[in-house]
Amino acid sequence: MQISYAEWVCPECKTKNREACNTWMYGSPIRECKACRSEYLDKRWREVAIDGFDPRGKNAKFFAKGALLLLSMALICGVLLQTPVVQGMNSTKLTLACVLCSLFGLVSGFIALRIKLGFAAKDNEKYMAESKSRLADPQYVEKLRKYGYKV
Ligand SMILES: [Zn+2]
Repeated sequence: MQISYAEWVCPECKTKNREACNTWMYGSPIRECKACRSEYLDKRWREVAIDGFDPRGKNAKFFAKGALLLLSMALICGVLLQTPVVQGMNSTKLTLACVLCSLFGLVSGFIALRIKLGFAAKDNEKYMAESKSRLADPQYVEKLRKYGYKV
């Protein structure tokens, strides 16, 4: 899933880099600056063959609960909007809250569903295979060791 973005400022040339990543930032922690090509370590990325998967990535219940909570909040906002109590500025804010809660609620529900249906496990297999193929390169492993990884 390419729904997240990672941003960083290059320590060498101070360029702000931005790139798409998967939800859990599975990938190589050794990143390359797009501007000056210098390499550096970003611990936010998880090299899954070493770091393992993010435990939240398997927790369908967590996301299902989140979805339920957010959607009920959206519902409450929606109901409040129908009452004469809410007017003017408040109604704008409440509409915004309602929309945001629905949106995040749907995303959470979608993630929970993906985990339940086994799509997330399929993705994880792919990330693990990618990670292992990176680690098959001795030069790459050497770099990771230099950055303090125990490979
Ligand atoms: Zn740079």
